[in-house]
Amino acid sequence: MNLVLLGPPGAGKGTQAKLLEDSRSLVKLSTGDMLRAAVAAGTELGRKAGDIMERGQLVPDALVINLIAERLDEDGSGRGVVLDGFPRTLAQAEALDRLFKERGKRLDRVIVMAVDDEALVERIAGRFACAKCGEGYHDAHKRPLRPQVCDRCGGTEFVRRPDDNEAVVRSRLKAYHTQTKPLIDYYTRQGRVKTVDGMADIGTVAKEIGRALDG
Ligand code: AMP
Repeated sequence: MNLVLLGPPGAGKGTQAKLLEDSRSLVKLSTGDMLRAAVAAGTELGRKAGDIMERGQLVPDALVINLIAERLDEDGSGRGVVLDGFPRTLAQAEALDRLFKERGKRLDRVIVMAVDDEALVERIAGRFACAKCGEGYHDAHKRPLRPQVCDRCGGTEFVRRPDDNEAVVRSRLKAYHTQTKPLIDYYTRQGRVKTVDGMADIGTVAKEIGRALDG
């Protein structure tokens, strides 16, 4: 099964993609994670993408399409993929259709995660993660049980994304509304869309996605 999770930044796509990876043995492909890794490694791609990401804008289509094309050819992705943060433009969606077709595969479902913009700004501006295992936390909603100690791995270092501040979040939301939201119509016309309420808690959203996939 090949899936796309579609929704604004902070909708919970990464969290749900991770859960689907574990529960359905899918391979999670996140262009945001791949680009952040490229920035951290100081590769040519990272140098091209870094400034754009810090401004909350979208990196050029060709760069992310290449990343996804490479990953679709790697071992394991034959079991099925869950795409998080890709596609984000019409050109990317069309390229994805083409990439699947060339490989004799297809996109089965697009899960749209519906959320409210103002809640997103609060959600994103408060989030941080364990530097060691990546477990996600939030200043208001999910602090580590012991202060400064990760519940999952005991790590004591935490990181915040440089683009998780209010000004950049607003620019990321703008990019979502102008460039990505039109994809809902594109996929609705293809009959692939199921919408879930992304404002619910993580477990409830996961159950709703499960029902959308199995129903
Ligand atoms: P994310 O982690 O998905 O929120 O992505 C973080 C940033 O990476 C975005 O704000 C964009 O600058 C860039 N990015 C990630 N995925 C894409 C994509 N599919 N197309 C263009 N830019 C992307």
